[in-house]
Amino acid sequence: MKPRYVAVAVPGLLKFLDYAISTAAAPDLRPGHGVLVPLGRRTAVGYVITLKDRAEVEGVKEITGLVDDEPLVSPEMVDLLKWMADYYMVSLGDLFRTALPAGIGRDLKPLTRKWVELTDEGLALDLNSLRGKEQRRLIEFLREKKGQFLSALEDAGLSPSAVKALVEKGLATVRDEVTLRSPQHGVSNEKGKIPTLTAAQKTVVDRLTASIKNGGFVPFLLHGVTGSGKTEVYLRATAAALEQGKDVVVLVPEISLTPQFVARFAGRFGNEVAVLHSGLSDGERYDEWRRLRSGAARIAIGARSAVFAPVRNPGLIIVDEEHDSSYKQEEGVHYHARDVAVVRAKLCGATILLGSATPSIESYHNTERGKYTLLTLPERIDHRPMPEVRVVEMGRQAEGRRLKAEETVLVAPEVQAAVDDHLARGQQVLLFLNRRGFNTFLFCNDCGESARCPNCSISLTFYKRSHLLRCHYCEHSAAPHDLCPQCGSHNLRLIGHGTERLEDEVEARWPEVSIARMDRDTTSRKGAHHRIIAGMESGEHRILIGTQMVAKGHDLPGVTLVGILFPEGTLNLPDFRSAERTFQMITQVAGRAGRGETPGEVLVQAFNPEHYAVRHALQHDYPGFYAEELIFRKELGYPPFSRLVLLMFRGVKEEAVAEAAGSVAEIMKKALKGCGEVLGPVPSPLTRVRGKYRWQVILKGKEGTAFRRQVQAGIVRYEQSGRKHGVELLVDVDPQSLM
Ligand code: ADP
Ligand code: ZN
Ligand code: ZN
Repeated sequence: MKPRYVAVAVPGLLKFLDYAISTAAAPDLRPGHGVLVPLGRRTAVGYVITLKDRAEVEGVKEITGLVDDEPLVSPEMVDLLKWMADYYMVSLGDLFRTALPAGIGRDLKPLTRKWVELTDEGLALDLNSLRGKEQRRLIEFLREKKGQFLSALEDAGLSPSAVKALVEKGLATVRDEVTLRSPQHGVSNEKGKIPTLTAAQKTVVDRLTASIKNGGFVPFLLHGVTGSGKTEVYLRATAAALEQGKDVVVLVPEISLTPQFVARFAGRFGNEVAVLHSGLSDGERYDEWRRLRSGAARIAIGARSAVFAPVRNPGLIIVDEEHDSSYKQEEGVHYHARDVAVVRAKLCGATILLGSATPSIESYHNTERGKYTLLTLPERIDHRPMPEVRVVEMGRQAEGRRLKAEETVLVAPEVQAAVDDHLARGQQVLLFLNRRGFNTFLFCNDCGESARCPNCSISLTFYKRSHLLRCHYCEHSAAPHDLCPQCGSHNLRLIGHGTERLEDEVEARWPEVSIARMDRDTTSRKGAHHRIIAGMESGEHRILIGTQMVAKGHDLPGVTLVGILFPEGTLNLPDFRSAERTFQMITQVAGRAGRGETPGEVLVQAFNPEHYAVRHALQHDYPGFYAEELIFRKELGYPPFSRLVLLMFRGVKEEAVAEAAGSVAEIMKKALKGCGEVLGPVPSPLTRVRGKYRWQVILKGKEGTAFRRQVQAGIVRYEQSGRKHGVELLVDVDPQSLM
């Protein structure tokens, strides 16, 4: 007889609920099916986890409908999500929601898009006869591309009004095109020929190919210096997997920041590639998802959530820049996509390839203890040298007194001279400063207070263009005040520096040069990031200024000089990963230099170049940094020598928050006796964000299930003890940030 009940995971609930199968509504249920179930007075979407012959309780209700005739996810994915629910201590129903595209279950009509094409007159027109500059540019563009989607034209900076003008003159036509919503627009396919592998690449590719052919779970860490040709390795391994009839998942940190990477895959594999990223509409995302599920596309490329891509038979999973902290989801379900990718590979018996020029301490440690196999690309392509790195040491004279004008410039004279030099040789320059805004503080000389956000425990950043003080954690902004709100003094000054100020300074110093700035303030609009990179590629811009955004894997062969300004700023963050982050940042930014045929040069302008994170980065010495960092981690018992769970309490009333944190700390001290330590409760370093107070308790334990089980039991005990009113508990397993 068929099972008559199912256990269903519902978002927001930790426990599964039993429902009866009404044969009419659901003849053939399987794990992974989406179902509609009555829950209290409403109907909820739930996900079938298991089929069963008996219900746990009497009088269970019936399922009322199906989201889709087919299961929404494969049995392998159900297993992965179950593992995640247990490991990250979250609701399995919430995980289904995280893993599935938003459009699912809704009837999405195919999208029509506007396709712009030149008419015969438009094609034949003598451009000199046309007055509008923008219209001329548009025609040139359309001639080159042989027509384009309207949205792609906008991304390329061409206005719809110019399109309209051409249509009115009979030079162009616009029609609705029913398409599979191809989201690759804006990304050109880089066809190019396939390069011959270097010897080092060949060794690596051979290892991977053999592993993919043999099948089974094999984890690799590829440590390849910047510019060593990791992407080509990924492409070859992907080809090998396709040849074996296997599918491929490729994760990148932030896909909107890596159009070149996507273009290389699209160029090599064409329609086999489905791109999943946050810039897609629900409909586009759903289309790509279905192309993967149906097998029409066999390579999924995307950020974090693409780890759930519904490829049918994964034989290879690639995680590029595996050290990148954006793989950690910090809202909702706190999962780490790299770690989930490893588990997925394990569950489906696939090869997994983690790649980075600066591997995370955890992953490298896993190669040392034999869990992962280490592959290396120790040299750049064509024996191009690693860029020469020099330190420009800044004196500490600035402290405690007013600065002389020449001391307040952000770019030191020595760096300025180098910029002159590289510009004179027709090359491009990258200047890195990891702070946005103009000034970082409005500081009172009399009482020492700086302007703070009323909702967050953080200083406000001054923006000169908009003449506003803005908070980087909430939406608060205000005009700068004339008097100190603390003591009434007039003696205020703006100190600290950000990319906006750097841009002003650079513009004043090199007025004849085109400059681009890339940070979160300049790239909030769609396509803005792409335009900046395109402007660098075409040579239009000569100097690029940016925050860590510029460090993310761009291949900018024209850049020969990189100036890294005050990289040690991040060392002071109260976080045990701050040295690792700083090392990664310097190495990655420095790695942008000299990727073309001309060797590169890097100048690091720093106050504290003796710090080991800075020192090893200057020497391109990953193993040296790793060894030193590992000693520090071991002494303090931090990962990889322990596992951490961060319990964060949030609420508007500070006493209630502190009390909740205190009660959990007590419970955990008992629960973790013999298998873990309890640190705290303490206010979080960022004590207040968006008007909510934050306290934290850090749990530290040994790897393995004993610690996890006890933490889970402790949390259940806390929740049963009567939830503290108005206090939210966030559980962050393997936290990436302790702020
Ligand atoms: P990484 O990701 O390791 O920093 P990339 O994959 O971006 O490096 O490669 C650096 C450059 O070298 C790219 O322009 C790439 O096209 C080129 N390249 C890679 N492999 C080869 C090869 N075997 N022969 C020639 N050029 C190559
Ligand atoms: Zn004051
Ligand atoms: Zn704020």
